[in-house]
Amino acid sequence: MNTAEHALLTEVFPHDARRDPRGVLVLGGAPVDQLIDEHGTPLYVFDEATLRAQCRAYAQPLVHEYPNSLALYASKAHLDPTIAGIVAAEGLGADAVSSGEIRVALAGGMPADRIVFHGNNKLPEEIEYALDVGVGRIVVDSLDELDLIAEIATERGGQPAPVILRITPGVEAHTHEYIRTGAIDSKFGLQLHSGAAEEAVAQAQAADSIDLTGLHAHIGSQVLDVEPYADSLDIVLDFADTMSERHGLVLRDISPGGGFGVSYSEADDPPAAGSFVEVIAETLRARRLESEPRLLIEPGRSIVARAGVALYRVGTIKEIPGVRTYVSVDGGMADNIRPALYGAQYRALIANRMPDGAEQLVTVAGRYCESGDVLLRDIELPALRRGDVLAVPAAGAYHMSMASNYNLVGRPATVLVRNGKALVTRPRETDADLMAAFAPVET
Ligand code: PLP
Repeated sequence: MNTAEHALLTEVFPHDARRDPRGVLVLGGAPVDQLIDEHGTPLYVFDEATLRAQCRAYAQPLVHEYPNSLALYASKAHLDPTIAGIVAAEGLGADAVSSGEIRVALAGGMPADRIVFHGNNKLPEEIEYALDVGVGRIVVDSLDELDLIAEIATERGGQPAPVILRITPGVEAHTHEYIRTGAIDSKFGLQLHSGAAEEAVAQAQAADSIDLTGLHAHIGSQVLDVEPYADSLDIVLDFADTMSERHGLVLRDISPGGGFGVSYSEADDPPAAGSFVEVIAETLRARRLESEPRLLIEPGRSIVARAGVALYRVGTIKEIPGVRTYVSVDGGMADNIRPALYGAQYRALIANRMPDGAEQLVTVAGRYCESGDVLLRDIELPALRRGDVLAVPAAGAYHMSMASNYNLVGRPATVLVRNGKALVTRPRETDADLMAAFAPVET
């Protein structure tokens, strides 16, 4: 095994990923040739031990740094009832952005009061549903939505709706870049600069049907520095001080959101989960607030990305002399839209055998009828043959949760592996499943 492959296996693949003596990749104790014999390809494999370890990577430092806290798993990254159950058993709550996500979280055993309901356009029936099941908090995204929630809660009578306001703090961060004064042009949140945030606090405080518990801000995704969180939190806490003086706001919940970066390749070096927690807790403690608010953090991809691996079967290999070699696999943009959507880059390795021969520069294309359906552009891989299996790591977040039926191809199966055993968490969609989704032709 060369050093690049070793680094990929130990830093980007799930914990304990290795090759067996035959050279076959082993995930969660299960050799991938057995997994695909049984479940076919493309296959999404989730390693339970990695998922649990990532939950603890946040939960444990929080216990030391700021015990009055709750880490919320961002369901949109990837959710099924089994994973919701694991995350709940690890003591986490969940963010949800639709009644569907709330339903799946509840079905897996997530307590309703640990669910936080987000979204910039929650439908009235979704707000009703969230109040019916008793979600912990609803995050208000706009003045318009505040009116809607207040109206619905007034009509229902009973307890006021527990809400948090999403503030746009003017800090936007993506990977290593962040902008201190930008990001006021966002479809999410109540802008501080325009006065919308203050107006929302005033209205919420005045509404009998609303119980305003705190403030939230989310600054971006795949953030690889800790400082933007301190900056954004300070801005929100300054705002909270002013709102307490002007409108009597009592801050019971504070949330700096999520977006903590992960490794997609062995070259990435994101801060450890504990470093994000430390900076956030330290910023909060430094304010010496009279009554300590509960801290909510929302790690999404950084809990589940590393737990997931996509397995694809190699099909057509086409060499265009002097131009490039295309290696086509049996999945692509319908199960992983990220490369086509925002140029996300991945690594891969041959999973069914020990790599041999010199590496070659190839482009791994998906099977879908779109030129942009390229999973890995210009990647060095050992010579591939039809029938080989390619494993793409860091595939747990925003793959299957964004998957489609483009070209009317069924979505891949997902399995959860533990101690060498695989549990099917989502069966592969067949052509019959696709046909069943349509109304019959009227004759
Ligand atoms: N919280 C909120 C409000 C978000 O909008 C997002 C994603 O955009 C997340 C948490 C999770 O982000 P990520 O999966 O990038 O960590």
